[in-house]
Amino acid sequence: MISTGTQLRADAGSTGRLVDGRRVARTVREEVAAGTARFHAETGRRPGLATVLIGDDPASEVYVRNKRKSCVAAGMLDLHRHLPAEATQAEAEALVDSLAADPAVDGILVQLPLPAHLDAGRLVARIPAEKDVDGLTTVNAGLLAQGRPGLRPCTPAGVIRLLDEYEVDLRGAEAVVVGRSDLVGRPMAQLLLGRDATVTIAHSRTADLAAVCRRADVLVVAAGVPGLVGADAIRPGATVIDVGIHRDGNGLRGDVDFDAAVGIAGLITPVPGGVGPMTIAMLLSNTLAAARGRAGRDVG
Ligand code: NAP
Repeated sequence: MISTGTQLRADAGSTGRLVDGRRVARTVREEVAAGTARFHAETGRRPGLATVLIGDDPASEVYVRNKRKSCVAAGMLDLHRHLPAEATQAEAEALVDSLAADPAVDGILVQLPLPAHLDAGRLVARIPAEKDVDGLTTVNAGLLAQGRPGLRPCTPAGVIRLLDEYEVDLRGAEAVVVGRSDLVGRPMAQLLLGRDATVTIAHSRTADLAAVCRRADVLVVAAGVPGLVGADAIRPGATVIDVGIHRDGNGLRGDVDFDAAVGIAGLITPVPGGVGPMTIAMLLSNTLAAARGRAGRDVG
């Protein structure tokens, strides 16, 4: 068990254990596949996930293809829809409305970013909260803010699952989240708060980011700046979760300077192979939860 406070400080100087996100994601996918089979046996239908891709952004195409493949591998229905880059706001909204009304669709995921002429906020707002498997609607964000059940954004939910798998004790822990986006930072902070951590949110206007980060027993970095967090920002023995993903000439790297951090942290996520694999696994988990919720069954 990784615990907070004195034990973490006693761990100073040890080399960080690595979080194996691929292993945990595989476990989640197996759980979802088993839950999906049970759901099918109970209801006679399979959970359906509608990914919506608008345009031909190559990175988005790869993300959506992986989501669709994982959905089928878990035994769910792939109800993908694609609109051309020239689609109008009205056409995009009509598509989301038709998926909202379709009883075979349990989850709707609009792949972002959208082509520049489309308003993502207005489109996402049309997704019914019970089909919002990305957890991005105002209703689900509000439920999370109030600590009430709802669909949670996949990446922060995946971080919590990783912390649980590695038995990181969050109650009373000093948690620092770097980043305050609707997709990662804010929901991450809310989830940590819900687990009784003492949470600080840092952002681009934070004075002395390194000093704030050094307070953390659990440091989650989602700033979108390669190598932003270095050795001077990490308390010895801390748990360091790197959400950032950046592709450069040498492959993928994160927001944390991994080589500098690994000798100081007690537990750390690599990039790749840390948080990244969890996002799709939690999307599948949310889709099953949405299907169970719509079928009037307990989530789980
Ligand atoms: P985002 O919307 O660009 O938000 C970045 C946040 O970081 C903002 O709140 C920003 O502060 C803050 N920030 C930027 N520069 C900073 C600095 N120098 N010091 C402190 N804070 C700073 O990004 P996002 O969508 O949250 O994503 C963050 C990173 O995670 C990206 O690298 C993204 O690719 C990655 N990501 C990974 C996954 C995954 O599956 N692993 C999923 C989603 C995102 P302000 O609010 O003040 O501007």
